[in-house]
Amino acid sequence: MISFRIAREEMVKQQLVKRGIQDPRLLKVMAQVRRHRFVDPGLQNRAYDDCPLPIGNNQTISQPYMVALMTELLELEGDERVLEIGTGSGYQTAILAELVEKVFSVERHHSLAQRARKTLDALNYSNIAIRVGDGSIGWNEFSPYDRIIVTAGAPTIPSSLFKQLKEGGILLIPVGDDFIQELNVIRKIGGKPVVERAGDCTFVPLIGKEGWKR
Ligand code: SAH
Repeated sequence: MISFRIAREEMVKQQLVKRGIQDPRLLKVMAQVRRHRFVDPGLQNRAYDDCPLPIGNNQTISQPYMVALMTELLELEGDERVLEIGTGSGYQTAILAELVEKVFSVERHHSLAQRARKTLDALNYSNIAIRVGDGSIGWNEFSPYDRIIVTAGAPTIPSSLFKQLKEGGILLIPVGDDFIQELNVIRKIGGKPVVERAGDCTFVPLIGKEGWKR
């Protein structure tokens, strides 16, 4: 029987620190949050492997390094309200909830949203709101957000998401085609987007009105 705690500590050392993740608050949380609770029982022994894993509905829980990298790129300090698009397993949601004031998360698959809600409730998170719907148009009701993170690949930057971002805020989104995307770090400065690119990645598609249409 492997120890999940030891597997987590190894994950942090080998997959995150060695590749340059530095934020001490983030590393602490990655070592604490029980990632194995976010995958099927049959996959729990692989929960700390260096790869994404299937979560049903043709979707995946992102690789631990990708979760850490994206979270670090959000430059979180603790008092933010964050919008996440693509709840999936809820693992990234949990990492964010540990680091900020409030997380709003949108998932298009009802069954995934429901399971994520159950997992997050069982782990006693009380600062997460989840909605089923098309997140490519954001969640206007609670906007503007300090940070917006999209964990699915988009063809272009959805203008609704940029509109729902606060001045000085950061929108993080993979943009590209079906096979490969580039992580776009978009800051709103004087109401205008200032875009930086932070390397290649591969996500499942963002499907919706301002995403892929299918
Ligand atoms: N952060 C999640 C990633 C899940 S994969 C995790 O690590 O578990 C991406 C998710 O985005 C999938 O669950 C998919 O259903 C969802 N998704 C795709 N298009 C969407 C849209 N327009 N609105 C909301 N969710 C969407």
